[in-house]
Amino acid sequence: MIKDKIWLSSPHMGGTERNYVTEAFDTNWVAPLGPNVTGFENDLEVYQGENTHVAALSSGTAAIHLALIQAGVGPGDEVICQSFTFCGTTNPVQYLGATPILVDSEYDTWNMCPNALKQAVEDRIAKGKKPKAILAVHLYGMPYKIDEIHAFAKTKQIPVIEDSAEALGSTYKGRKCGTFGDYGILSFNGNKIITTSGGGAMVCPTKEMKDKTIFLATQARDDAPHYQHSEVGYNYRLSNISAGIGRGQIEVLDKHIDLRRKMNHFYQDIFEHIDGVTVQKEKANHIFSNHWLSAILVDPAKTGGVTREDLRLALEADHIESRPLWKPMHLQPLCKDFPYYGSNVCETLFENGLCLPSGSNLTDQDRNRIKNSILKVFKK
Ligand SMILES: *Cc1c(COP(=O)(O)O)cnc(C)c1O
Repeated sequence: MIKDKIWLSSPHMGGTERNYVTEAFDTNWVAPLGPNVTGFENDLEVYQGENTHVAALSSGTAAIHLALIQAGVGPGDEVICQSFTFCGTTNPVQYLGATPILVDSEYDTWNMCPNALKQAVEDRIAKGKKPKAILAVHLYGMPYKIDEIHAFAKTKQIPVIEDSAEALGSTYKGRKCGTFGDYGILSFNGNKIITTSGGGAMVCPTKEMKDKTIFLATQARDDAPHYQHSEVGYNYRLSNISAGIGRGQIEVLDKHIDLRRKMNHFYQDIFEHIDGVTVQKEKANHIFSNHWLSAILVDPAKTGGVTREDLRLALEADHIESRPLWKPMHLQPLCKDFPYYGSNVCETLFENGLCLPSGSNLTDQDRNRIKNSILKVFKK
């Protein structure tokens, strides 16, 4: 008998989403605006904390695009980007005809290395071009070294775009990720910690920036009775149907974070007794990860030759999805000609890392299957 597939991370509805969507139908608010959009933005503002202003958008990628535009990025400019990330981080830089300057990670958080960042920025300035923005990412929900990176960005007066697409609910020194940068980005794609089926948001420090973001996201329409336009705009607003799903999802967000964190502990318990495998976890008390995805590093020199690929294939044979870590962007054909500053950290992580099933909807039965499948590989 073929068992049901266990997925890496699948949508997990809380139950009330359908009510918001039904209400949208009943009131005929089937449009990229309406009460659910406003309601979802309010919910996110309450969740993110004091003095946050949230604009709901069609995707996290769209949010990064609009952040780069507001940071003044244009053709020929350079933007510093964490190399170890999903292409949704770097693609918008290329939409604008700008060049991503790719930077390595460090081992604590797997995110942008403050030393490599410093080296990159100073070298670009020495070469005659000051980067227009820094795009740093909280990968898999793990907060990057915010104090170090933001303090450095401030000394150079370079705005920081905080890609918090994977880190909704993660905190740093008690404050929510997505609220530290000059621009904060969230994603509600299908596999993220909460989903609107597809969607994103920009977390803005001021009301003016939120208004500007919504203006750009609705074709930059000027205030006039007819359609009047003085600058290029985009069709990037979230629909009222999608926002309805988001309103229901927000109600269960903290519960789902708790369940994802339990998955991380589940893997810590398993691998505690297996040599050569480490689970990525918080390395300091002031860091709280939503553990969107739980990930491990496999060191074949210490596992008796078992590689992450051996483990991935064994899980796949048991109908369990796992996935190598993000392939660094500087190794992607798309970005191979862009400058890269680093010392082989994210390359090593990519080589040896694996994301394991992390969904908040996994059952005890699923966990047993995962555990047995893992133990089979290492029981030699
Ligand atoms: C998902 C993701 C994005 C893009 O978000 P979408 O909503 O899918 O466009 C950007 N950056 C990172 C790190 C992501 O994981």
